Amino acid sequence: MKDIRFAKFLVFVNGGVPLVLLTWDAYNNQLGANPVNFAILTTGMLTLVFLMLTLLVTPIRKLTGWNWLIFSRRTFGLYAFFYGCTHFLIFFVFDRSLSVSSTLHEMLVRKYLLVGITALLLMVPLAVTSTNAMIKRLGGPRWRMLHRLVYVTAILGVIHYFMETKVVVPLQLVFATVLGILLIYRLFTIKRSPKPAPSPASTKSKIWSGALKVASIKEETPDVRTFRFTTPDGQPLPFKHEPGQYLVLSLLIDGKKVNRTYTIASSPSQATYCEITVKREENGQVSGHLHTALREGDEVKVSAPAGRFTFNSKEANSIVLIAGGVGVTPLMSILRHLTDSRWHGDIHFIYTAKTPDDIIFHRELHDLQKSHPKLRLHLTLTRADNHSWSGRKGRITRELLNEVVPDLARHPIYVCGPASMMEPTIQLLRELGVPSEQIKSEEFIAAKRAELAPLNVAMSATVAVGSNAFASSGDDSDNPTLTLRKSGKTIPLDSEKNLLEIAEEAGINLDFECRSGICGRCKVKLLAGQVTMEVEDALDDTDRSNNVILCCQAKATENVTLDA
Ligand SMILES: Cc1cc2nc3c(=O)[nH]c(=O)nc-3n(C[C@H](O)[C@H](O)[C@H](O)COP(=O)(O)OP(=O)(O)OC[C@H]3O[C@@H](n4cnc5c(N)ncnc54)[C@H](O)[C@@H]3O)c2cc1C
Repeated sequence: MKDIRFAKFLVFVNGGVPLVLLTWDAYNNQLGANPVNFAILTTGMLTLVFLMLTLLVTPIRKLTGWNWLIFSRRTFGLYAFFYGCTHFLIFFVFDRSLSVSSTLHEMLVRKYLLVGITALLLMVPLAVTSTNAMIKRLGGPRWRMLHRLVYVTAILGVIHYFMETKVVVPLQLVFATVLGILLIYRLFTIKRSPKPAPSPASTKSKIWSGALKVASIKEETPDVRTFRFTTPDGQPLPFKHEPGQYLVLSLLIDGKKVNRTYTIASSPSQATYCEITVKREENGQVSGHLHTALREGDEVKVSAPAGRFTFNSKEANSIVLIAGGVGVTPLMSILRHLTDSRWHGDIHFIYTAKTPDDIIFHRELHDLQKSHPKLRLHLTLTRADNHSWSGRKGRITRELLNEVVPDLARHPIYVCGPASMMEPTIQLLRELGVPSEQIKSEEFIAAKRAELAPLNVAMSATVAVGSNAFASSGDDSDNPTLTLRKSGKTIPLDSEKNLLEIAEEAGINLDFECRSGICGRCKVKLLAGQVTMEVEDALDDTDRSNNVILCCQAKATENVTLDA
């Protein structure tokens, strides 16, 4: 289903057809002996039909994998509300002759009318909050919670229909059966759901893992692209992030699983999407794959959020953001968040790139500066000579910092960029009297290519522990094994798989969550042997000094023993 817009149009037009036919028949006096009753009955049934269609979208989508169907749910829901309102209005205008007292009296006498009006009133908040802006405002979990009301509405609608007639008619049974199946499906899926949607309070710290869809790809500069991800079904994002945090992408490239970390460059105030902005590295495996192979509509495995390079806007009155090259991404997320929330503080944004063509988010930065008087943008280019550039040139210097940021030492300062820019900049800041605790920095350390490096060569991501009492017996090179001390099990190793996978295949369940090396749930102490880890973001210095490793990342080619 490529042309969703056309499909949306078809659903929209077809949803209005019954109303057109009803109006036409009414105009031509063809609604039978009791036209008002006929119109009330027809619009009531249409309300139930559209309610059932709204509820059917998710189960059909889940059972068939046709995620594109989600486009129709909002339209079906709004039509249900529309026909419900029409149903009531025909009753109020033609049956009760616009008399409020008569309508209220009738409702008290005929209880099914009370049930019906309750169902209609419950649809009001659903219709009001059906827009993307409201989803964003309420946040995913609250929005989803509110929209469960649709089940109550449907139940009341069917009860209203049953109460209205003295004898049971086949159509009532059809609605009741469809609703019954939908409710059983819902109860069944809630019960079996392995990970309930995180509550607003827990989303901050909780790592979510799952599939996101590439909604759009935008070229920022010749070698930088922005990838926008949404949930496959168009629901709000299932995680919340702080500005400056990152996600981990897990991809299968040439049959091998690779993980890479990318900053979430979009603002956390965007509840329905997140964006990463990726520079294509020369011979870069993942960045190259993202630029050349990833297409709109593709799904990727993501774990998010993680990272401590975040800014707590409540604790400061100003901020200095210093970016170099693609290191602008976390600072852009902070900037977008601060400007979205109309933060009261001063923002000094210093950004260095090579040439005018390399300035990522150039237009947006200028637009933000125009609309936010508190933002002061300073661009400086290091290789502008052969380009038409009338702005600042050269690297970030002591003079530039002194000139553009008054009282430099007073502000929290965030620095992100290549090592060649960060190290001298941080050195300068220290020399200019900025206390170390006010400087925060993040380096985009490239992930280790464990599969390219000989595994027994010591790399920075290799944890090695000398043999000890727990080391398993056997010939290391021929049949290396994984020994789990607490379980008392020893199983064969597979150098292609991580220790978590190897244990799982042997029927041993180790704790895990994100499987991407960022949540730390699979931390375990390495008692003997040597492992390599592609991502080890969840480990801190204490973990490292205690030989703690991440099972979901650790691979080994020789005997290892875990305290698990
Ligand atoms: C917290 C964090 C946030 C990040 N955010 C972003 C972001 O927002 N945007 C972004 O673009 N990047 C970001 N990165 C960097 C990103 O994670 C990747 O490191 C980057 O995209 C390169 O990955 P790659 O697979 O393309 O390159 P790799 O294949 O890992 O290669 C990296 C570099 O090493 C070289 N190389 C690879 N293998 C070898 C070898 N065997 N011998 C010699 N040289 C080799 C490559 O030529 C390349 O230049 C972030 C990193 C971190 C840690």
